[in-house]
Amino acid sequence: MAIDNLDLAQCLEEAKAFHGDLCAGIVLGTRMSILGLQAIGISDPKGKDRKDLIVFVETDRCVTDAVLATTGCHPGKRTMKILDYGKMAATFINLKTGKAVRVNPKNKDGDKRKTREEIEQNPHTEEYTMMPAEDLFNVVEVSVDLKPEDMPGKPLHIVTCSSCGERIMDVREVLKDGNILCKPCASNSYYYTPMHSEAQQKL
Ligand SMILES: [Zn+2]
Ligand SMILES: [Zn+2]
Repeated sequence: MAIDNLDLAQCLEEAKAFHGDLCAGIVLGTRMSILGLQAIGISDPKGKDRKDLIVFVETDRCVTDAVLATTGCHPGKRTMKILDYGKMAATFINLKTGKAVRVNPKNKDGDKRKTREEIEQNPHTEEYTMMPAEDLFNVVEVSVDLKPEDMPGKPLHIVTCSSCGERIMDVREVLKDGNILCKPCASNSYYYTPMHSEAQQKL
């Protein structure tokens, strides 16, 4: 018996196995993925359609694991772009047709600020599995500016940062007063070392 590639129960099983448990984020992310893939005409994301798909996700939480497990897209293949917006949303792009949709859960809380205790009270897993998709999600057709340097495949070029001497791939370098710099040397970094701050002071 052939298994539907986007069968919800099957996809939930795979997402649960990848994530470690079946939480509300996994249910939502799996359903968002199925909806998004269907909307852009992709039925076999891990098989015949695997080279025609790029996804953008807007949080580094559970929902992203579900998108990864359902679509087969992942950062190391450059088919998944993770944007840290803190939003439960994903955009699915069919590279063959150019069609793209952004899917996110409908906001049922208005502008209510939720505390951690309130968030913990409401797992909703069962409800999110059963609710009709149109009650649960917004699906909006969008266009995405995909740059050549963001596409899968070998880097377009590799250069050296004139400050730290490290190599930079994928056109992520910055030009400052005619010097090639990596982003952390050009502005702020998430890490600090004595050597690094020395390098920054020299600028
Ligand atoms: Zn989770
Ligand atoms: Zn540098």
